[in-house]
Amino acid sequence: MRFWKLFRRAMMLRCPVCGIGGLFKGLLAMHDSCSHCGTKFEREPGFFLGSIYINYGLTALITAIAYPVLLFGGYVKEQPLLWSMLVFVVIFPLFLHRHARSLWLGFDQWHDPREGETGVGGTVTASANSEKPAV
Ligand SMILES: [Zn+2]
Repeated sequence: MRFWKLFRRAMMLRCPVCGIGGLFKGLLAMHDSCSHCGTKFEREPGFFLGSIYINYGLTALITAIAYPVLLFGGYVKEQPLLWSMLVFVVIFPLFLHRHARSLWLGFDQWHDPREGETGVGGTVTASANSEKPAV
């Protein structure tokens, strides 16, 4: 249940902790913190590097499935398909940028919850990994 709550918040580009505050103030620019609960979105420098894995992974997965299906299924000839896929792998990550960051924030909240998470499944009051010693 908690996973789907965080996934829904991520898809709606909302704060993973409260689900109310928006993540973006522009097309690409993010708020530093939630306007409702004050949660700082970037936990540490380079935090959003992880969103690249989501962006790249989805782009590669879709391309790896679509290319052979369209080519060997006989739907599109090889050259037009190649150029279409080339355009896709350049354009799609730009459109996915916001949701990749939002999904990364949701994954982080799911994996290492911050205090004060509200909604279905109750309130998370402590970080699951907060008691691990710093390495
Ligand atoms: Zn919030």
